[in-house]
Amino acid sequence: MPECQTAPMCPTCDGLRSGERDAERVRDHSRATDCRVLLRRHQEADHQATGAPAAV
Ligand SMILES: [Zn+2]
Repeated sequence: MPECQTAPMCPTCDGLRSGERDAERVRDHSRATDCRVLLRRHQEADHQATGAPAAV
């Protein structure tokens, strides 16, 4: 998971990642996919996928 390096202190990223891990543990693939999509969307919106939180 290379995206893990962006904004390691962000609670939203953290929550979505642990949610994904949780979902995969119980083989809930649709929920895991959901978390991944939400994480990417959140990172693009809030971190611009660069690791710089709220750069603007
Ligand atoms: Zn974040």
